[in-house]
Amino acid sequence: MHYPGSVGEFQSWFGTDDDCLDYLEWLRWPEGFVCERCGHAGGWRLGDRRFKCAVCGAKTSVTAGTIFDKTRTPLTVWFTVCWMFASGKDGISALSVQRTLEIGSYQTAWAMLHRLRVVLVRPGRDRLGGAVEVDETYIGGEEPGLRGGRAKGKKVLTCIAVEVHEPKGFGRCRMAPIADGSADSLHGFVTDHVEPGATIITDGWAGYRGLDKLGYVHDRRSQRAARLGGEDPGDLLPGVHRIASLAKRWLLGTHQGSGDAAHLPDYLNEFVFRFNRRRSRSRGLVFYRVLELAVAHDPVRYKDLIVDPAPKKVPPVPPGRWGHPPSLERAAVARPWRTVDLG
Ligand SMILES: [Zn+2]
Repeated sequence: MHYPGSVGEFQSWFGTDDDCLDYLEWLRWPEGFVCERCGHAGGWRLGDRRFKCAVCGAKTSVTAGTIFDKTRTPLTVWFTVCWMFASGKDGISALSVQRTLEIGSYQTAWAMLHRLRVVLVRPGRDRLGGAVEVDETYIGGEEPGLRGGRAKGKKVLTCIAVEVHEPKGFGRCRMAPIADGSADSLHGFVTDHVEPGATIITDGWAGYRGLDKLGYVHDRRSQRAARLGGEDPGDLLPGVHRIASLAKRWLLGTHQGSGDAAHLPDYLNEFVFRFNRRRSRSRGLVFYRVLELAVAHDPVRYKDLIVDPAPKKVPPVPPGRWGHPPSLERAAVARPWRTVDLG
């Protein structure tokens, strides 16, 4: 067993930062230390747990160059957050992490979870294949429990692709925000996420025309034809509609609608990661997978999490009591819940 099978095992395996360092060492250098600078395999372990390359003399720690680089958070806390992130079917919100682990600031808890979201997309991952439904929908901009109905936030046009199996069932999915419903945007999404040769099933929207020239078999389903044939046009693309409703429910449930426009892509990454592992029986295996990706990923700086030229990323604010996290439209809208909820 390379990963803990239960919360009890998790606790007994990772009681100290040294335990966590051992595990990260084994994940990063399963065959033993390899120098990052010159590529030489082999070196000495120093008293402070760093390694020194036997050839070039470079000194490095197992966390250097990973998302744990220069972290001020104890590794035991990092591991516990990873465990909570991986072991819950629906994940965990930054507010729960902050409360459960008594982390001083919401921003710290939020940034840890966002760093984990960023590592989930493995470069060069396989694209979808077989029969793939593709459609686009608006996601985000809703928050439950606000007085006077739902607050209007910024909805983001999101493209969804999902493998459909015969006679029923779904395979893997992918989701990503797109600029608009133009052929450029939709074709770009499809070529990024689906292997050429696959069958792409879409509705009759003109933006999908031309997929056959990109190496795909295009199965266009016309709503008008479905209506004429006595079928429900809403059932043309059951896979993507299922994904869209699951994703929206998950954002409202686990994250209380806090997937604001600037960070929606990261939340979508997490949703896709969870959906594609929904049949994984062992949560420990998911934990192992997250840590493996984390230790293989370059450092993610806090300012990269909150600052991005387009769209402008903003620092996090806890959801709930303070209304929803700032979005680009916040300043322009009336905020009656502010005065209601503070009392
Ligand atoms: Zn070296």
